[in-house]
Amino acid sequence: MAQLPTTAKKLKLRNVQSIADGFALRIDGVPQIMALRVSNPDRVILDLQATEIAPEIHNTILAVNRFGIKQVRIAQFQKSPAIARLVFDLSSDVPINLLSSFDSGQGLFRLRLAGTVSANPSIALQALQTNPPTNFASGKAIVEGLSFNGYGQLVIKASRSISYQGSFDSRNNTYTFRIPNSQIAAQLRRPLLGSNSPIEQIRLNQVGDMVDVSIKTSSGWQITETGRANPQEIALQLVSLGATAISAKTGSQPRINNSGLSNQIAQIDNRSTGQSGNSKQIVVIDAGHGGPDVGATRGGIYEKDIVLAMSQQLGQILQQMGYGVVYTRTKDEDLDLEPRVQIAENVNASAFISIHVNSLDANVSMVSGVETYHAPNASLGKTLAELVHQQIIAGTGANDRGVRSARFHVILKTSMPAILVETGFITNPNEAAKLVSAAYQRKIAEAIAMGVNQFLKSYQR
Ligand code: ZN
Repeated sequence: MAQLPTTAKKLKLRNVQSIADGFALRIDGVPQIMALRVSNPDRVILDLQATEIAPEIHNTILAVNRFGIKQVRIAQFQKSPAIARLVFDLSSDVPINLLSSFDSGQGLFRLRLAGTVSANPSIALQALQTNPPTNFASGKAIVEGLSFNGYGQLVIKASRSISYQGSFDSRNNTYTFRIPNSQIAAQLRRPLLGSNSPIEQIRLNQVGDMVDVSIKTSSGWQITETGRANPQEIALQLVSLGATAISAKTGSQPRINNSGLSNQIAQIDNRSTGQSGNSKQIVVIDAGHGGPDVGATRGGIYEKDIVLAMSQQLGQILQQMGYGVVYTRTKDEDLDLEPRVQIAENVNASAFISIHVNSLDANVSMVSGVETYHAPNASLGKTLAELVHQQIIAGTGANDRGVRSARFHVILKTSMPAILVETGFITNPNEAAKLVSAAYQRKIAEAIAMGVNQFLKSYQR
């Protein structure tokens, strides 16, 4: 997947301010941003890559109390590689669309809130237009084409970073959005829409400096936005009303949403682009134990249940990030170790994440914390383990028991980067209370997802 060229030098974020229609970041360039919307509590996390925060604003809170945003927490999330993190704590579950622009003269990177500012979104869009991102060569982003990616997503590709805001109108089954400062390519690639296609019609219109896109779905289909892993692309998820969750117990094929759809879309893609169009990275999530094998247990709490809940949350987050997800188990069932490995091998996974809960022989113990394992001599596995482990420690504040190597079957026998996370000790009463709470499980899942995302973006080309 193409990515924005990143500047080799580190950026310096000196200040974050609330302005009339959003936020102004005083920074000496355009950061590459990874965004994630999470719930419980509702918040938006922006990770600015290769960005150092001025010490005086590290660990500060900017009160906002408008646009549905309570506050912004600002921190140096990680030193090496440097990642600055802005967490927008939301007061309601309003949709947040951020439009970005960079003013090189003033050294201001603006994040404007589209849609929440005014009922008329053109205000934000016009503001953006007069202030196009200047890190790219002059001129507009070329909207180069649309294609299905084989996983139930329609992907719009442009020559440069683009912003957009869209909405789905269920009355006429149409999703519309506008891409500012852009132009339709002379030779626009577009998919062939067969009679069974979930999309009935795609229209693009050049309106001044903007491209208006309108996508009408077939009846029974909706479009939802997905997280943007790549600022040059907009991926729209096609959702069948009444779609079933992924089930990949057999592991023969990555079955996404609705297996019929996935094949059909892949075919459309092949005809229209001549490529396989199937480039989505798959993460296999392995909830340890299951069925009669309950794993670690204390006081009626079973490891098998905790790790299943965590794995489901992790899967949802990774899907939102745009990854394909395959679970080794999605319910309380007995599953040997070797079939878990085979599932990952069969789908040619890019990463394998096994989730466990720890315990000691003692009935109650003060020992607590997280251990992340990779197979001996697995250098990519070790990198993945380190990235995930850092995120968990930073995200949960749990005791750091380190990244370790061990010959666990599932990480030893899988051929892709593989880790096993011991998420905490149920023999520690405090940690056990956390491990069974959905909020803490969510924290762990988010942290693992961010580590996996960092790894797959940086090391799996
Ligand atoms: Zn276990």
